Amino acid sequence: MTDSFYYFMVTNEKDIFGGPHYGTQYDLSAACPVCGSGAVRQPPIYTKKLARSFDLYMTLDYDILFSDKLVAAFRDEEIDTFDDVISCKTKEILPYKVLRSQAELPRFSEKSKGFQREDPCSKCDQDGYFHIPHVPLQLHYRDVNPRLLEYDVLCTSEKFGRGRLREPISDSVFARPLYLVSDRFRRCLDSCKVKGYQVQLVEME
Ligand SMILES: [Zn+2]
Repeated sequence: MTDSFYYFMVTNEKDIFGGPHYGTQYDLSAACPVCGSGAVRQPPIYTKKLARSFDLYMTLDYDILFSDKLVAAFRDEEIDTFDDVISCKTKEILPYKVLRSQAELPRFSEKSKGFQREDPCSKCDQDGYFHIPHVPLQLHYRDVNPRLLEYDVLCTSEKFGRGRLREPISDSVFARPLYLVSDRFRRCLDSCKVKGYQVQLVEME
């Protein structure tokens, strides 16, 4: 087990939607009725086929896609937390997978910095977090259950952006959690020599 976790961010220019836009289903049983925080994505996800090849790609809804080649390298290291991606047009399985968080962290501590809060949902107070341009996000956690640190991919309970739950669900926009990855995951990325991502160490005490 390792205590090192990293905030994992993919840095491409985003040009296609993911999220609920093209028919991806969500379990709304624990979702906030106002902003949709707590909606749980149900695999597979539906999106448009990307016109170009890539190793790592982030959709406009912050779904992180891994090429099949990259997924294979992770599976060789027994890291397998990916779901299928389906073309919303042809319904074919596309040659990439979407990263899935294995568990959600508790709220980060007040020592975290590099973000701002604006107009959070009055019902659940989970969304309304925003990055500050050119300021690194420094996440800090206290007393995290060690069981969570045995996973490779975690997500924050804080949701970045502003969510709204609508009928039909394809009109909804979900604020999204951040992904934190284990040191093992980071080393696997590193050994694959892919470009287009950043990692930032998360402090845990
Ligand atoms: Zn809410």
